[in-house]
Amino acid sequence: MVMSRVAYVDGQYLSHRSAVVHIEDRGYQFADGVYEVIAVAGGRLVDDELHLVRLARSLSELRITAPMSDAALRIVMREAVRRNGVRAGIVYLQITRGVARRDHAFPKSAQPALVVTSRRKAPVDPRAAADGISVITIPDIRWQRCDIKSISLLPNVLGKQRAREAGAYEAWQIDHQGRISEGTSTNAWIVTSDGAVVTRQADSAILNGITRLAVLDIIRAEGYGFAERPFTVTEAKAAAEAFLTSTVVDLLPVVRIDGNPVGDGRPGPLTRRLREHYLAHAAAAA
Ligand code: PLP
Repeated sequence: MVMSRVAYVDGQYLSHRSAVVHIEDRGYQFADGVYEVIAVAGGRLVDDELHLVRLARSLSELRITAPMSDAALRIVMREAVRRNGVRAGIVYLQITRGVARRDHAFPKSAQPALVVTSRRKAPVDPRAAADGISVITIPDIRWQRCDIKSISLLPNVLGKQRAREAGAYEAWQIDHQGRISEGTSTNAWIVTSDGAVVTRQADSAILNGITRLAVLDIIRAEGYGFAERPFTVTEAKAAAEAFLTSTVVDLLPVVRIDGNPVGDGRPGPLTRRLREHYLAHAAAAA
């Protein structure tokens, strides 16, 4: 039996097909809102605590009031998972500043608007995990608060499209100093020739990925060398290994940057080990 999808919209569970928000929602007009994407494994939310901490921070940086408590949000997310029959997939949660007559300044009385959806997701393409994927590099044209998980994603959309058109999986964005900030929907990592894992520190130039945090925990627990610092495109192209992380793709080896092979052009051994560890971590939620 095909289960029809259900979306939570401001207090109601509605048929996904007919769920709508108002045309004067500030998310629609100004991208004035934030979001989270949380993995579901075995029907359970993965690292939901960390996602809720990041959500609270994004809301507070934009001075949007949380529409409900974390405990209530968890109930809604679990209910969305349950009603959509999701065992392996994702939850998408979005909060905007609400519906108000269009005016750039904050409305006096708008209520924040909450949408939660959940859908099944096939596991990452085993070929991408086994053979690795390609990235291109593009200028980072985003704003200076990429630490906020805002729904304003136009540069990310344009960047991902450039990657797709170039036959690559992802575009790594480069700042004014030639350093890689992150992908359009993923964090960027390299492994140096002496075996140290490097990823940019979580400053305002990147989103502090929840997968990034989990992988850093694994690296610490396993005692691998690592550094949180920026790295240049030149350093990345000369790296022994490279990979990227996100909730949606977990951890994928990067084997080409702008057409140049990374290392021997095959997924590196440390990358493969970290991926196994991360998959075990995500499965432990189930
Ligand atoms: N960086 C950007 C710009 C993103 O949009 C995302 C996820 O959507 C990430 C990094 C990875 O974050 P997470 O691991 O929390 O999915």
